[in-house]
Amino acid sequence: MALIFVMIDGVGLAPTGPHNPVAGGMTRLTGLLDAPLTDALHIETANLRAVPIDATLGLPGLPQSGSGHSAIYGGFNAAAFNGRHQPSYPTIAMREYLSQQNLFQSALDQGARVVWANGYLPGYLEVVAQRRLRHTAGTWAAMQAGLGLRGLAELQSGAALGWDISHALLRTRLDNDELPLITPEAAGARLAALAQTADLVAYETYLPDLAAHERLDISVEAALALVDGLIGGILDHRSADDTLILTSDHGNSEDQTTRVHTRNPVPLIVSGPAARHFAAVRSIDELAAAMLVALKET
Ligand SMILES: [Zn+2]
Repeated sequence: MALIFVMIDGVGLAPTGPHNPVAGGMTRLTGLLDAPLTDALHIETANLRAVPIDATLGLPGLPQSGSGHSAIYGGFNAAAFNGRHQPSYPTIAMREYLSQQNLFQSALDQGARVVWANGYLPGYLEVVAQRRLRHTAGTWAAMQAGLGLRGLAELQSGAALGWDISHALLRTRLDNDELPLITPEAAGARLAALAQTADLVAYETYLPDLAAHERLDISVEAALALVDGLIGGILDHRSADDTLILTSDHGNSEDQTTRVHTRNPVPLIVSGPAARHFAAVRSIDELAAAMLVALKET
């Protein structure tokens, strides 16, 4: 009876075309939907809701991850709050907002058991303290809710998952072979296993966005295949009463004519018995409230 929430950075919905690897490239996901992943997606059945939702937050310009992630985990219009879209990481003011109110804290306050499944390499907090990296909104929200960050021991034991799904990238930052490669299906099985003893399991990956920015050594298609394998692993290993929730913060990988973000809608895909609770969600900032209702009523 858990919600398994996966935030996939940089996946929008657009018409099928030669420059759109999202529309037909993710076979496990399109198999679940029995439809291509385009902006025409519209499925509302008892156990499946799959629709495009807004990621622009009503502001001009290209949506960005700092405000998009904050909107998702904070349940507020972080771009309007900021006056404009905020790249990559939340501002100090957004972090203060998230400290007061976020999905994880609200879920805990309702009595839900919450797992922030992302795992971090040794030294992560030091790197942030040295300002060489900043916390994503999801990481920050998890920390502020007191969830703690899972580390190498949990990455090794299977109780956490790196943002790169297979750990191929995380491994390059370790001195030796401390972290085995895993298949994306095994990565999905990890999230499903965590859901056995939790009410909300949340995980985020940036692979499609970084690949579409050409900041990784893998293609967009390869990044999407990893995400698709992860989703397949969740679908194959979850309990029948678990609900999988997928969304993104903004478009990018669905338009390979440009390396920057898009204003396209993003998918909201909810598969499982809690799908009915997401019927009113039209924008990424409305998702957290729906998850909290679903947690209360399942
Ligand atoms: Zn980006």
